[in-house]
Amino acid sequence: MSVANKKTKLKSLQRRGSYLAHAANQIQFLEKDHLQGERFSEKLKSQGLFPLTPTKLEILQLNLGYMCDLTCEHCHVDAGPDRKEIMTKETLDQILRVVDQSQVSTVDLTGGAPEMNPHFLWLVEELSDRNVKTIIRSNLTILVSNKKFRTYPDFFKKHRVEVIASLPCYTQENVDKQRGSGVFNKSIEALKLFNSLGYGVEGTGLSLHLVYNPGGAGLPPDQTQLEQDYKVRLKEDWGLVFNHLYTITNLPISRYLDFLLAAGKYEAYMSTLIESFNPLAAEKVMCRNTLSIDWEGYMYDCDFNQMLQLKVANKQQHVKDFQVQTINQRSIVLGQHCYGCTAGAGSSCQGSLA
Ligand code: SF4
Ligand code: SF4
Repeated sequence: MSVANKKTKLKSLQRRGSYLAHAANQIQFLEKDHLQGERFSEKLKSQGLFPLTPTKLEILQLNLGYMCDLTCEHCHVDAGPDRKEIMTKETLDQILRVVDQSQVSTVDLTGGAPEMNPHFLWLVEELSDRNVKTIIRSNLTILVSNKKFRTYPDFFKKHRVEVIASLPCYTQENVDKQRGSGVFNKSIEALKLFNSLGYGVEGTGLSLHLVYNPGGAGLPPDQTQLEQDYKVRLKEDWGLVFNHLYTITNLPISRYLDFLLAAGKYEAYMSTLIESFNPLAAEKVMCRNTLSIDWEGYMYDCDFNQMLQLKVANKQQHVKDFQVQTINQRSIVLGQHCYGCTAGAGSSCQGSLA
């Protein structure tokens, strides 16, 4: 069992040779936990929500690779500078054919740090030509740490890309603790750059949203109230503005699972998620209108299922064989980790759900 100690803290689970680097071992752990509470699928059955089926495919979320300049403690991707998995141009060409065929309205780019994919700029231009809404999930630091990426915010503006940026607190202490020393100051520098271009500024139509996830082993606080707190603190302390704050629950996957186990908080956290089940959130989970695609082109119901290697429950699992009808008719693959999306106010890549 891997324990996050000081010596190994800045490496991915994969580089540490951790037992939890393997999806099958994580699943074994998570599914054993059902002894503590009802299985997620049973819970949905009791609400008349099983099998969970898609509504209509609206969002393609592309994981452009697991490489990242940071190694955050809670990363469910197990991303980091030592991860080399990167989506190829061939796979991106296959995905663009899906964009054309499926008429999705939004393509959401994530990673790792998606900016580090060598085909990133080309991809954004291709999406812009197709008039689909493009979202970039940026960790902010990548944009100011390396000269190569400093021009990217201007490029985002040119293509009207929506920016969703991680900032798990408005204090330096909490951000640096979760994401690494110096991350807070670099994040503020990048946010200032975005504001100077009009991002987050009312009336410009340039969207800049922030993402909060809890530092410890609890659920996020009320999203509306926390957004207000962020707005006041970032304005007063740094003169910064942004549009919305998305609160996201940490799912017990990968490095967050490792964190919970090392802290002896895994069972208590799972109990909290299970006891806080909210049927209103369950109806709106993001896998119903989103499809996640990994760096090799395999399809998943969401980024979390991707990290657990739970591919879509279809005969065709690779994007080269994509058919919109079969994707819209699939049953969503569920597990105990799904309680993370339905606890309290619910959680998705667009924040709370209920
Ligand atoms: S949480 Fe985001 S920024 Fe941090 S290591 Fe993971 S992918 Fe990179
Ligand atoms: S973890 Fe994925 S599959 Fe499960 S409820 Fe959440 S979004 Fe849906």
